[in-house]
Amino acid sequence: MSAGTLFVVTAPSGAGKTTLVRHLLERNKAVQLSISFTTRAARPGEENGREYHFIDASRFKAMIAAGEFLEWAEVHGNFYGTSKTWIGEQLRAGRDILLEIDWQGAQQVRQQFPEMLGIFILPPSLNELAQRLSGRGTDSADVIERRLAAAREEMRHIEAFDYVIINDQLNQAIDDLSAVVHSARLGLARQKADHSALFATLLEH
Ligand code: ADP
Ligand code: 5GP
Repeated sequence: MSAGTLFVVTAPSGAGKTTLVRHLLERNKAVQLSISFTTRAARPGEENGREYHFIDASRFKAMIAAGEFLEWAEVHGNFYGTSKTWIGEQLRAGRDILLEIDWQGAQQVRQQFPEMLGIFILPPSLNELAQRLSGRGTDSADVIERRLAAAREEMRHIEAFDYVIINDQLNQAIDDLSAVVHSARLGLARQKADHSALFATLLEH
């Protein structure tokens, strides 16, 4: 069985994380996306169970108490968390998993899976970030203001990550993200696991 890689993608809100990950998953069917739980209201076009599992605060608290989250955090005034059960199942099956979470969550995952690959996505400028947030048309002016302030805080935590992708030209950034995922599959441990018969034949004495 192959050893799957745990990818953690973090970015300030509006940098293009959701867009990039969607393109990656279209290109790369073998990567499984973790669907987080959140207490935030669904945006127009979002579907329960597709972008998030949308739940209320009391259910979220009950899940914390029951130890059901691998990590959870309060972000922009709402709660977000990753299901522990789902991750366990995917890792046991040897699958590549991708989490789209904030820096606080990434820190908690790193403590439990030091070998995770952390990928941080940066916007090409603060101006462009502000434009993308308002251009998305899904958040009110005060929410956008809060998210811009939080973006600066988020970017201060970039040192804890392994790879950085600057999302300027979308196609280049998609290529970059795909390259990180591809290179993780070429590591020695992974190649040994994926090609055990070849290794046995070529390296036998
Ligand atoms: P995040 O998930 O990081 O909050 P989104 O993926 O929702 O960000 O992207 C925010 C907005 O920016 C969306 O309207 C998206 O279409 C746009 N966007 C994403 N990447 C680019 C890019 N490289 N160039 C221009 N616009 C982009
Ligand atoms: P949004 O509301 O724009 O979908 O997401 C807001 C922020 O919450 C983003 O930074 C996103 O990465 C983060 N986030 C989404 N899901 C999770 C999660 O399960 N855990 C943590 N810690 N953060 C999350």
